[in-house]
Amino acid sequence: MSDSEAETFTYNGGSVAPGEAANIRYGVSETYLGDPVRIPVTIVNGERPGPTVFLSAAIHGDELNGIEVVREVANEWDHTELRGTVVCLPVLNVPGFLAQQRYLPIYDRDLNRAFPGSANSTSSKRIAHRIFRNFIEPCDYGLDFHTSTRGRTNMLHVRADTGDDRVDRLARAFGSNVIISSEGPDGALRKEATERGVPTITIEMGKAHEFQRDFIDRALDGVKSVFSEFGLRTTSAVKWPGWRTVVDGSSDKTWLRADSGGIVEMHFSRGSFVREGETICTITNPFETTANEVTAPFTGLLVGILQNPLVFPGNPICHLVELDAGTRRVIEREQRP
Ligand SMILES: [Zn+2]
Repeated sequence: MSDSEAETFTYNGGSVAPGEAANIRYGVSETYLGDPVRIPVTIVNGERPGPTVFLSAAIHGDELNGIEVVREVANEWDHTELRGTVVCLPVLNVPGFLAQQRYLPIYDRDLNRAFPGSANSTSSKRIAHRIFRNFIEPCDYGLDFHTSTRGRTNMLHVRADTGDDRVDRLARAFGSNVIISSEGPDGALRKEATERGVPTITIEMGKAHEFQRDFIDRALDGVKSVFSEFGLRTTSAVKWPGWRTVVDGSSDKTWLRADSGGIVEMHFSRGSFVREGETICTITNPFETTANEVTAPFTGLLVGILQNPLVFPGNPICHLVELDAGTRRVIEREQRP
């Protein structure tokens, strides 16, 4: 790349030359009043050549942490030394964001099942199409930020199809402790972008409806690390998180579900290490006449836990993933006082 020229970034309706940055409001649909529905886009094109990377958030309208990550990269980072182009998409699902709900309010559709979209199909697929064509397809890599669904909370982890070498490199470069490997569902931005030559990972962190500063800072470190791995920044280093576990098809992972209705008293926090047989939480009723203990079926990490402590039988309580022996030793060493 070093001997090539920096390229102009073009989308349907404009272009951003090397050394320029642009804030765009890009029309992706129309309201019932016929007004445009426009997504905010910031494109920063470095003076020097390098890869083009997109950062997206709020494809689920109430997942806020990623918005702040993307916004800070776009507006607060110094891009004078940038090699390549950064496409910042802080709020993909604008109708959901305005209503502060996960799905598109139009027929309650999941925008993250509508990619790569279609110009002549449903409203959600048309929105997806306009986003994908203009701002995803021209990129070389992508980072899509999410949080847990309302009522639950996640530790920061990456979801990626590590069977694909380019995705694996991107996932590791982000520097999270935990990577959960899967292709992802059909229609998800990460899967469809990856299949069309834009390796993309999802970053899951924390809960909906909040800005959680610790997560945002760690994610910004992850973005920095990715940028140095792929040469967009030469001033920061690729991050080694201290320990890393890749959860794939061969690892045990499970959502433990409540077998009784009641009030959950959680004994561990998100991200905790639990040993086989340990009591993760207790489910009681208001009279505290019965208490059902939920124990860990294997030694692992609590990647996600419920946030709302009220459950019906069958509701998910926590997401437990198995750790290999080497990772377990590192964590145990870290947790020793
Ligand atoms: Zn999400």
